Amino acid sequence: MQAEIPLACPEYDEAEAEALLAVLRSRRWSVGPALRQFEDGMAALAGRAHGVGVSSGTMALQIALEALGIGPGDEVIVPAYTFVGPVNAILGAGAHPVLVDVDPVTLNIDPDSVDAVVGPNTRAIMPVHLFGRPAPMPALQVIAEGHRLRVVDDACEAAGARDESGPVGRHGDIACFAFYPNKPVSVGEGGMLVMDDPDLVLRARQLRNQGNDPLSGTAIVDRPGHSARLSEWHAALGMVQLKRLEASMARRERVAALYRERLQDDERFELPAPAAANQRIAWFTWPLRLAPRLADRRDGLIRALRAEGIGCNTYFTPVHHLPFHRGRHRHGALTVTENVGRRCLAVPLHSAMGEDEVDRVCGLLRELVECAS
Ligand SMILES: *Cc1c(COP(=O)(O)O)cnc(C)c1O
Repeated sequence: MQAEIPLACPEYDEAEAEALLAVLRSRRWSVGPALRQFEDGMAALAGRAHGVGVSSGTMALQIALEALGIGPGDEVIVPAYTFVGPVNAILGAGAHPVLVDVDPVTLNIDPDSVDAVVGPNTRAIMPVHLFGRPAPMPALQVIAEGHRLRVVDDACEAAGARDESGPVGRHGDIACFAFYPNKPVSVGEGGMLVMDDPDLVLRARQLRNQGNDPLSGTAIVDRPGHSARLSEWHAALGMVQLKRLEASMARRERVAALYRERLQDDERFELPAPAAANQRIAWFTWPLRLAPRLADRRDGLIRALRAEGIGCNTYFTPVHHLPFHRGRHRHGALTVTENVGRRCLAVPLHSAMGEDEVDRVCGLLRELVECAS
């Protein structure tokens, strides 16, 4: 059998190894200089004043909501077609998610759907830049201002992406990134809040460290905090990965272009829309959809591809179809989510992929899509 092609694959070289050794030798393994440096680096990437590193992307989103005072009794609007992390973050903060539909072309949260579900308890919108594609922030900002809502931006898949209004992460009260090995900047586990308001920065730092911020010597008095710091190992790795981001994005863009070239004439596949003018997508796997008539082949196709050593997954099962979440959350009309959720799958896209590997995945997609059952 030929070598496996993983769905995602982080890249590194000696620079990462040296950064880790430097932390080892420094004996500063937590809350040291690497964390501050990585926080400044991520803030700069997103065009923000401050960063606060935490233990995961989901924790970053939860702490963002908590720092804004959102909790029990409050509603947060979030797309139904997404990785479940943001929904779990809302529940973790004690608030209620309200699920809304996505745009059929971009698969990002649909501003009209957001407007339609705002109610008396709605406090925030949590847009997701899905698959590294910038969400329609200007339109969402208008809705947020009209209804006096906060915006917590889930940029976990989208470090490095940008649109005509600037880098992803620049909008909203707080934006959050994640560093799991399939993300554009990966360190294993970790997350980061970026923002401008110094009061929010202090609150987030307190929340990540048992309610007490050692940097300022100040403590929260009205609630407990978390133990959710980002270690020096992760931060040091993150700094090196951040330096790699531009080159790695360019390589992933090339892989995305090859996929498009190979599959665009095959009506059995609906390909992700190309980047719009003035937009840069931080490609995160290659999310395609089967033609509607082939929807019931999707699960069989995923099994058949995996049997050939091709990493692939149902990205994403709509949140309200997941076992715990079924029937639990208020939601708007979810027509697009239902339609796309039956036909979507993600195939490998990472910076080390060559033309041969794209050809192999595309060949297997074409061959297996009709016979899989
Ligand atoms: C990865 C991801 C997160 C956060 O994931 P963690 O594993 O908690 O770091 C949140 N939202 C989206 C859309 C993601 O893809």
